[in-house]
Amino acid sequence: MGFEQFPAGALMNITTRPELIFVRGQGSWLWDHEGRRYLDFVQGWAVNCLGHSPQPIADALAVQAHRLITPSPAFYNEPSIRLADWLVRHSCFDRVFFTNSGAEANEGAIKLARKYGARHREGAYEIITFDGAFHGRTLATMSASGKKQFDALFEPKVPGFPRARLNDLASVEALLGPRTVGVMLEPIQGEAGVWPATVQFLRDLRALTAERGILLIVDEVQTGMGRTGDLFGYEHAGIEPDIMSLGKGIGGGVPLGAMLARESVSCFEPGDQGGTYNGNPLMCAVGLAVAGSIGAPEFLDGVRRTGEHLRGRLEAFSRAQHLGEVRGRGLLLALDLGQPIGGRIVDAARARGLLINSPRPECLRFMPALNVTHEEVDAMIEILAACVTGPAS
Ligand SMILES: *Cc1c(COP(=O)(O)O)cnc(C)c1O
Repeated sequence: MGFEQFPAGALMNITTRPELIFVRGQGSWLWDHEGRRYLDFVQGWAVNCLGHSPQPIADALAVQAHRLITPSPAFYNEPSIRLADWLVRHSCFDRVFFTNSGAEANEGAIKLARKYGARHREGAYEIITFDGAFHGRTLATMSASGKKQFDALFEPKVPGFPRARLNDLASVEALLGPRTVGVMLEPIQGEAGVWPATVQFLRDLRALTAERGILLIVDEVQTGMGRTGDLFGYEHAGIEPDIMSLGKGIGGGVPLGAMLARESVSCFEPGDQGGTYNGNPLMCAVGLAVAGSIGAPEFLDGVRRTGEHLRGRLEAFSRAQHLGEVRGRGLLLALDLGQPIGGRIVDAARARGLLINSPRPECLRFMPALNVTHEEVDAMIEILAACVTGPAS
C-alpha cells in the first residue's frame, strides 16, 4: 500500500514527518505500511519503557477495559489508588495527582507552587527556571521553558519564570527575591541535547532552596521511571525535592503523567485542580503494569548494565570516527557530533532501518526501551557506523 492512499493532509501540520506510516510494533522493532522493519531507539520519545506493545501493558489494558474504563474523577477508583500508593512508597513524596501528559503534570506543579506561595510566602509566585529547559507545550510550560525557538511565540507569555543557567548556582542566587517561590529543573535536560545537572549543583540547589524556604521542583518527565538507571533521576544526587512531575515512561506508551509533592507542600483544596480523565482507571492500570515491571528486582540493574554497554559502544564509535563526547545516564545518552550533521544522520539511519533522534543538529540522542538487549544495541551501532562512514543512501 502506498503513502498516497492515506489522506494525511487532514491532519494539522505541526511537524515535518517522513512519508511513513507505522502500523505495528513489537519490542524494539517497528513496521511501516510497506512492511519495512525499523530498529527503534526513539521509542515514542523515551516513552515506551518496555518497548512496543509489551505483554504486561496489552494485558492490563484489555483486563481493565473490560472491567471499568472510567467512573469520573469525582469518584475513587482502584488502579489510581494503588498506583499512587506505589509511587509514594518508592519516592520521597506523599501525595500524587495524576495527569494525561508531562506538560499537564508540570502545569500542576506550577499551580501547586503558586498556591504554596499564596499561602506561605506572602504571594510569591516566581519559579526560577533554566536556559535550555523543556517543560512542555501548554502556555505556562512553554513560558517556563528555556528553548530559544519558543521565545517569540504566543506572546504574551505567562509571567513569573526568570531564567538562570544550568550548573551555575550564582546565576540562581542572582534571581532570588521576595517573589521567588521555587526553582524548577530537569535532572538531565533532555530536549536540549542531554545535558545533566551535576550532582553538586543539585545538592547546592537543594541546600539553597531549603535555606530560603522555597520549593525545589524536579521535572522528571524524561528522567523518571528508571530511564537513568535509578527509579528517579534525583536519587543519583541523594537529594529529596519538594515536587516532581512524571510523564512519558510512567505510561509505557499511553497518556499518563503524575505530579507528586511532599505532604507539607500539598496545599490544593477542592476546586483548585482536576480534569475529566485525570486518574482514570484505564491509564492507571497501565501505570501499575509499568511499575510492576520496572519495580521487579534486577530490572534497574539491567538498565544500568545495558546503559553501560550502550555508552561503551558509543564511546568506542566516537573515538574511531573522531566525534565528540557521550553524555547522559542509564539509557538516556547523547553522542556529540562536533558539527551540525544530526539531521542528515537521522535520515540516513531511517533509510537503513534505524530510528534515532537529533534533538540539536550537533548531537544524536538514544532513548531505547529500558529492556533493549545488548544485541539490539550492537545492531544499532552497526547501522550507525554505516551511516557515518558509508555513502548516504
Ligand atoms: C516530554 C517532556 C515534557 C512534556 O511532556 P508531554 O507529555 O509531551 O506534555 C515535559 N518535560 C520534559 C523534561 C519532557 O521531556
